[in-house]
Amino acid sequence: MAEKEQLIIESGEASQPFKYAVGMYGSKYFTEVRDNKRIMGVKCPKCGKVYIPPRGVCGSCFVEMKEWVEVGPKGVIGTFTILRFAFIDPETGHQKPVPYGYGFIKLDGADTLMQHYINLDDESKVKIGARVEAVFAQERKGSTRDIEYFKVIE
Ligand SMILES: [Zn+2]
Repeated sequence: MAEKEQLIIESGEASQPFKYAVGMYGSKYFTEVRDNKRIMGVKCPKCGKVYIPPRGVCGSCFVEMKEWVEVGPKGVIGTFTILRFAFIDPETGHQKPVPYGYGFIKLDGADTLMQHYINLDDESKVKIGARVEAVFAQERKGSTRDIEYFKVIE
């Protein structure tokens, strides 16, 4: 049987730097994580649903949300996958080391789930419903990677 060859086409070292505004809610969210290691969501004044990531309007009630509430940093895995096939990471332009975990996390105090990486030090513990905790980057820059990943804690 022939050995399988991974076919990866790279565009070389060309870069396409760009910037975009994350908006008022995104700015507060990223600033709180960067400066205080706090994960902030917004609460609907009508139904009480807490959204993370924060957004301006409740998707159920169509009312503006202005009440900020701290959520996490602990929560549970809502669903996940383990990626084992290498691909070019659009964040870095380089092949991302595999395997790694990725999932939807329901933070304590939140009603929605946020997507993030899940640490695989003990892959057998990565399960739906497992308790996890955010691991913050030592050097935070105001980006999604200020939370490095979530790790299973129980
Ligand atoms: Zn609502």
